Amino acid sequence: MTGRPNGGHAHDAIVAEELHRTYGRAPTAVHALRGVSLTVPRGRLTVVQGASGSGKTTLLNLLGGLDAPDSGRILLDGVDVCGLDENGLVALRRERIGFVFQTFGLIPILTAAENVGLPLRLRRAPVGERDERVAQLLALVGLSDHARQRPDELSGGQQQRVAIARAVANRPQLIIADEPTGRLDAETALGVMELLRAIVTAENVTALISTHDPRLLDFADEVLHLRDGRLHS
Ligand code: ADP
Ligand code: MG
Repeated sequence: MTGRPNGGHAHDAIVAEELHRTYGRAPTAVHALRGVSLTVPRGRLTVVQGASGSGKTTLLNLLGGLDAPDSGRILLDGVDVCGLDENGLVALRRERIGFVFQTFGLIPILTAAENVGLPLRLRRAPVGERDERVAQLLALVGLSDHARQRPDELSGGQQQRVAIARAVANRPQLIIADEPTGRLDAETALGVMELLRAIVTAENVTALISTHDPRLLDFADEVLHLRDGRLHS
């Protein structure tokens, strides 16, 4: 699972080698990642667990092509992310990855259905296909009856369900979710993890999810423990 230094296998969705990321410079530099190597197997749910400040967001941002490491290597489905230019990164993020964030990130003036359909609209999917996929996704996340409500008319848990539906709308190979339950109460958090678990199966997708909450580890196929910028098994 971790520390396979010579790269992973063809079935690995992500292979990362010796990732380092430092913010700022001496004497106030923060070493957020201090040599992280990992593999994320395809079609499974992998959880990165670590306390606040352990480097979870930094790691997920690097793996999703939202930020670049100071050194190290990242392969997403065999593609060397660090070798891509900005256009390549934009295309990678849009076509292959669905992001879910702690703060949901929905567009406030759009309804639940419109938020879910946005990625399909951006790639100019035909309206009929879009409507069908949106209806399917709203049903999958249990919000068919809330399609026309705006984010401020939905609970936190419902908003995160909309965000998850939106993240998988374009059938990405990978879901990256950074503390998706961080703003939710304990019971709602369990429901959202159950949903992510179900989506990995229903959509045949790989998921990489960070949390500081050890109670959510039961949902994982694989667990990576991050502490002070290093992985511990
Ligand atoms: P986590 O998501 O586990 O809370 P982060 O990856 O956000 O951890 O942060 C890891 C460390 O890097 C922390 O010490 C944090 O304060 C620091 N850090 C994160 N982002 C920045 C930044 N943009 N500038 C400076 N320090 C940062
Ligand atoms: Mg974080």
